[in-house]
Amino acid sequence: MRIAIIGTGYVGLVTGTCFAEIGHTVVCQDSDDRKIEILLSKGMPIYEPYLEELVKKNREARRLSFTRDFEEAVKSSEVIFICVGTPPLQNGDADLSAVERVSMDIARCCDSYKLVVEKSTVPVQTGKWVEKTIRVYSKGTEFDVASNPEFLREGSAVEDFLHPDRIVIGSQNKKAENILRELYTPIINGSFNCPIHKNCLSKKETVPFIVTDINSAELIKHASNSLLAAKISFINSVADICEKTGANIKDVAHGIGLDKRIGRNFLEAGIGFGGFCFPKDLQAFIRISEKCGYDFKLLKEVERINEERVTMVVEKIKGALWILKEKTIGVLGLAFKPNTDDIRFAPALEIIRRLLKEGAFIHAYDPKAMERTKEEIPEVVYCKDPYETLKDADAMVVCTEWDEFIKLDFERIKKLMRRRFVLDGRNIYDKEKMLALGFEYVGIGR
Ligand code: NAD
Repeated sequence: MRIAIIGTGYVGLVTGTCFAEIGHTVVCQDSDDRKIEILLSKGMPIYEPYLEELVKKNREARRLSFTRDFEEAVKSSEVIFICVGTPPLQNGDADLSAVERVSMDIARCCDSYKLVVEKSTVPVQTGKWVEKTIRVYSKGTEFDVASNPEFLREGSAVEDFLHPDRIVIGSQNKKAENILRELYTPIINGSFNCPIHKNCLSKKETVPFIVTDINSAELIKHASNSLLAAKISFINSVADICEKTGANIKDVAHGIGLDKRIGRNFLEAGIGFGGFCFPKDLQAFIRISEKCGYDFKLLKEVERINEERVTMVVEKIKGALWILKEKTIGVLGLAFKPNTDDIRFAPALEIIRRLLKEGAFIHAYDPKAMERTKEEIPEVVYCKDPYETLKDADAMVVCTEWDEFIKLDFERIKKLMRRRFVLDGRNIYDKEKMLALGFEYVGIGR
């Protein structure tokens, strides 16, 4: 099938590449010329495990191409995926101006039947507006609108796309549903040659393909992210209680998570959630509820608890170092999670800004996210590795649980630091071992 991807970011590039990988012909378009230029010159605008190899492979197989030309992308395709950003506005609403722009442009270019699919995360009832916009601005060409929310996680996006827990389709009619079912068939049946796993488990099971109306599909996405965010704020609150009572959040989370009704995922206490999804989707869901006349107090609290995590971290550092002015703090991890270079709404950046305001000197390192952070916070000293970051530091603060940080040589670090204070914001180290090594160790909820 011929597919156009409009918006070649984290979701668009992964979606386009994976569709090409399972045999479709895909053209990816973006309004950011710089991004397309990088891809046309065989570079990568983002980091995501396996993505670079798959882009190269599918480009060479002529199943994947990139263009700046919107009209060319739309006219040459039967299915058009809208994957543009839906960032938060000042009031928490999702900014849907890019979705509207793309809908109007699709209407202008439509010359034969198109299935227009919202993959961007959008508030419930956006599909109705996309449909209306295309209808009003087009010259009467036949089209359908469908919703296909994306659940991939950055850091494991390719794997998640090829092996999803479920595929959700919101559709107005059988025709749209059937096109999307056909498009996803290799993934549903696990009948593609998996480029990641040798003996791919997916071949043994089929992926649930859930078809709903468009409003329900849109709601599934916002409700899923809000529930996951709630789980994180819940466990962070329990971590605070652990600190006050001498319990250990690691054991408590393990004990809770083994209950199948609850599950072990998203029960890691820490410095809070970030990224381009949870904070903005939570806000958008609160705003949607308000507009429907429902005050979603539960989610407001989830958001408040998360925002307070940054203050909690700064207070813990102050609790150990007393005065932050002119203290050197080595920050390990800038990305909002491991295996990505994405720093959007990353708690590390907010923590750094607060520490800088207090007059601290910040040295920082991240395996993938330094270039992006440099543009946002130039006053930080960016280092070549964790050891350079911690040289003469008064404190080490772990903000992202990269594998590289789990395996650090603490005998070496001991000799490098001016003061051996470690704030383990992701609970990745063994507290007893750190104390035995001679570090002052503070974790979260332990
Ligand atoms: P992104 O910022 O990485 O990518 C969006 C792209 O859209 C950008 O490259 C931008 O230049 C492009 N764009 C904006 N306006 C355009 C236009 N008019 N025409 C063509 N291109 C345009 O964002 P992302 O992380 O890929 O997220 C995209 C959507 O997917 C959002 O709604 C997000 O909530 C949702 N989503 C993201 C994730 C994730 O983990 N990042 C997961 C699931 C869903």
